[in-house]
Amino acid sequence: MPDNFLNTDIKFLAGIGPKKAKVFNEELEIFNYQDLLNYFPYKHIDRSKFYKISEITANSANIQLKGKITGMRVDGANFKQRLVATFADETGRIELIWFKSIKWISENLKKNKEYIVFGKPTVFGRKINIVHPELDLVEESKNKMKSPLQAVYSISDKMKKNFITSKLINKVQNIVIQKLNNEIADTLPASLIKDLKLISLENAYKEIHFPSNVNELQKAIFRLKFEELFFLQIQLLQSKVKRTRSFKGLVFKKVGNYLNDFYKHKIPFDLTNAQKRVIHEIRADLGSGKQMNRLLQGDVGSGKTLVALMVALIALDNDYQASIMAPTEILAKQHYESITELLNGLEVNVALLTGSSKTKYRKQLHEDLQSGKIQILIGTHALIEDTVVFKNLGLVIIDEQHRFGVAQRAKLWKKNVSPPHVLVMTATPIPRTLAMTVYGDLDTSIIDELPPGRKPIQTVHLFDNKRLKLFNFLRKEIDAGRQVYFVYPLIQESETLDYKDLEDGYAGIIQAFPPPKYTTVAVHGKMKAQEKDEAMQLFAEKKAQILVATTVIEVGVNVPNASVMVIESAEKFGLSQLHQLRGRVGRGSDQAWCVLMTSYKLSKEAKTRIQTMVNTSNGFEIAEADLKLRGPGDMEGTQQSGIAFDFKLVNLAQDGNILQLASQKANEIIQNDQKLENKENIPIRRKLLNMKKNKINWSVIS
Ligand code: ADP
Ligand code: MG
Repeated sequence: MPDNFLNTDIKFLAGIGPKKAKVFNEELEIFNYQDLLNYFPYKHIDRSKFYKISEITANSANIQLKGKITGMRVDGANFKQRLVATFADETGRIELIWFKSIKWISENLKKNKEYIVFGKPTVFGRKINIVHPELDLVEESKNKMKSPLQAVYSISDKMKKNFITSKLINKVQNIVIQKLNNEIADTLPASLIKDLKLISLENAYKEIHFPSNVNELQKAIFRLKFEELFFLQIQLLQSKVKRTRSFKGLVFKKVGNYLNDFYKHKIPFDLTNAQKRVIHEIRADLGSGKQMNRLLQGDVGSGKTLVALMVALIALDNDYQASIMAPTEILAKQHYESITELLNGLEVNVALLTGSSKTKYRKQLHEDLQSGKIQILIGTHALIEDTVVFKNLGLVIIDEQHRFGVAQRAKLWKKNVSPPHVLVMTATPIPRTLAMTVYGDLDTSIIDELPPGRKPIQTVHLFDNKRLKLFNFLRKEIDAGRQVYFVYPLIQESETLDYKDLEDGYAGIIQAFPPPKYTTVAVHGKMKAQEKDEAMQLFAEKKAQILVATTVIEVGVNVPNASVMVIESAEKFGLSQLHQLRGRVGRGSDQAWCVLMTSYKLSKEAKTRIQTMVNTSNGFEIAEADLKLRGPGDMEGTQQSGIAFDFKLVNLAQDGNILQLASQKANEIIQNDQKLENKENIPIRRKLLNMKKNKINWSVIS
């Protein structure tokens, strides 16, 4: 029976009717009582306090007054009429103004009766008025269920046009809530509710729409946020469990000559402790019999390539092939080059496959992959194509994960009968809270240490008019043998504009650094891949001292001799992008610099971004700041995660602690009862079923 009640169509509610119901359906997907209850207010207004008219100031927000209508008149000509009512309390008088429904209101307003007026006052000189106030007769409002905190609901234009106001929603919520009497079954095990001192779900609904007081409102919000996060975590954990159950992992038990020889004879430096720890974690996965799905986070320059190579060698030691996938051709090539160099002298067959690989080369490569002759294949998206068939692919490493969509990853899985182990590497650190939701079903390893001897990069902010000073500084660096990047923002709407910025900048730079003493190369979106490569090559070989580029260099290029990164119009870049760009320098042992050039006019948000960059070079701190500024949906690394961030109440930037708690509890429960078969956990299962019916599904990652 409870189900029936919550499934009642909203059109039967007094005040709604079929026409408004249709608007609710179309605008908010609200069809029944349950949907309505789930339409939460975005704020509450304190209506326990009454103001006196004499207390109103020019910047009063929404306020509430008590008094009487003392006079009424209609001003203005035919089409510009307005109704003006004088409203007075014992301290003064103001005007209430209506532009619409004049007839109806003037006929219904009662003089000399006590009213409660609610609205935002406007002050003109010494005159105060409130346009379209809310009015309630005091005697009538006593009979209504009144909460000191009034819920405010967001209303779209279309709703407004159809006379659906926040007040109306308030009214219908009230009707439904008055009828609630254990209609909402709880969704959490009783012990958990007791343990966390949560209020019941039904009470949470009552309190969020009609709070008894601030304290109860907070409890309600906590309960409902916990609800959202807990079920998200449960779903993610379940999909993880399901995956490990349905796929048997390849077992890499052996450590053989490939890894040993490399480690003993070839490795150019000692591993950092963080690298060691991470390799250890990965090896444990590879030997476990479960398919690995691990996210490796490590700031730019933390040495992920070396880790990737050593893990690939473990695959080889176990007679499997490995593959490393990068998001751009330049980066794939660079991986190929640095890995061949690291392996120099060892008998390992490494090949490169990109979009521009020639047909003849490809044909041979396909053969050698199928025969197993090629042991490590490095490449771009081209790797995923169905024509690329491996003999025995055991491991896939994906660099800079956020550029790969979920579907593309899934395709890789099918490259072997048993899916290969997957290691996803990203240099865009993701705040813990986000990682837990976006990658909730991946295990995480973190390289939180840079190789020794790196000096922290100095970041400075300069306004555009300090360009001469900048050029003088750059001249000193270049004359000392260093190299310099200039990066211009990519203007997505207009490739031409983007190019113009760069072109103007380039002209200025050439003037300040004239050839033949200085060589400057440019790289931008209009160039062909080969031209880009040639320019980059000149820079990499130190034949050019200055590289002027749009953000094409964002990912990956490694030129340790470069010591200064100048970012033009830095205010136009997002935080994580700025951080990535900065990571292009400071790869050698010399002091490196990042110079953020901006105009004088900076939005508040841009100022915060620049300040954050100047203050910290810790990728995780930057990611946290980014999350606060932009919200989870816009963060790099999340767009393609497949997760929709349509939380109703949760704000990941603020609710990290609730997430932590929800995740911990979800873990405990799934660990003890994978299939949720215990009697205690029946409520959870019921809710999951319900969510499935309503197609609320978070676990879309794999
Ligand atoms: P990223 O994590 O950004 O991919 P890379 O793998 O490109 O970083 O490494 C950055 C630089 O640090 C490279 O020049 C690499 O050779 C060097 N490097 C990596 N590991 C170490 C280490 N343990 N000690 C010293 N240098 C290292
Ligand atoms: Mg890298």
